[in-house]
Amino acid sequence: MKLVRYAYEATVEVGLVAGDLILRLSTAASPDLCLHDVIDVVKGGPALLERLRAAAASGDLAKIPLSSATLLAPIVAAPRNVFCVGLNYLDHVAEGDRWRKLAAPRTIETPHFFTKPPSTITAPSGAIPHWIGVTEELDYEVELALIIGRPGRNIRAEAAFEHVFGYCVANDVSARDLQRRHGQWFKGKALDGSLPLGPWVVTRDEIPDPAALELTLEVNGERRQHARVSEMIFDIPTLIAQLSAGLRLEAGDIVLTGTPSGAGFAMSPPRFLREGDRVVSTISGIGTLDNTVVAAR
Ligand code: ZN
Repeated sequence: MKLVRYAYEATVEVGLVAGDLILRLSTAASPDLCLHDVIDVVKGGPALLERLRAAAASGDLAKIPLSSATLLAPIVAAPRNVFCVGLNYLDHVAEGDRWRKLAAPRTIETPHFFTKPPSTITAPSGAIPHWIGVTEELDYEVELALIIGRPGRNIRAEAAFEHVFGYCVANDVSARDLQRRHGQWFKGKALDGSLPLGPWVVTRDEIPDPAALELTLEVNGERRQHARVSEMIFDIPTLIAQLSAGLRLEAGDIVLTGTPSGAGFAMSPPRFLREGDRVVSTISGIGTLDNTVVAAR
């Protein structure tokens, strides 16, 4: 299932994407299927998912064209900060090492986790704010996002996928000058609107082999990033096992899994995002984010 959150005729609701249509759960016979954040579905567990499936199969749900709705970030009421991992694709580590002019490439032995506050989350076609006077080095990072379903602590890698509810596309927009100046990454990763997310959540059953997914990012039509999830240094089970060690993951937690090479900071000369730039982030089998950079004060 593809679970989408959208605005339509002055209401914000969760629906199911079927081709180029949205099935409106708000029109189901049972009023408790009228939901306003995909996290409500995640928290409802497999029983609620089954009910949504049955409602879709019943043919009773009203349909609207996908193009008539304004798509919103699927989850805004995240239970806490979005978990992220830096340096999870070898070629992205290498481009950073070249940028730092390191003599020998680093070996990454442990995932480097950091977080973004939920206030960074923005719509799949929303504006990416360029905070004037705050950063001169705004950059992009296309990433596969996991949505945690079943909670758990000390999750074994072999059982990791049982805790994944679904997947979506993320752009981990980053202010490189702030990252550098602050000595760690939080401030540079935490600006308002710096996490376009969506365009919907695809449930795990629809993606039997996430390693085969292909990530692409284009700026003004020029391809900057392209890789497969299989190129990750730490695969999804390893990330979940290491993140959940002594840290209970909750339903609705969002985990970003790292970005491949092609970031603007590592280009020669560096190419940062400017007002008016159109940033299109795509993951095969999931969908596309289409965001424009706008000046913000
Ligand atoms: Zn990132």
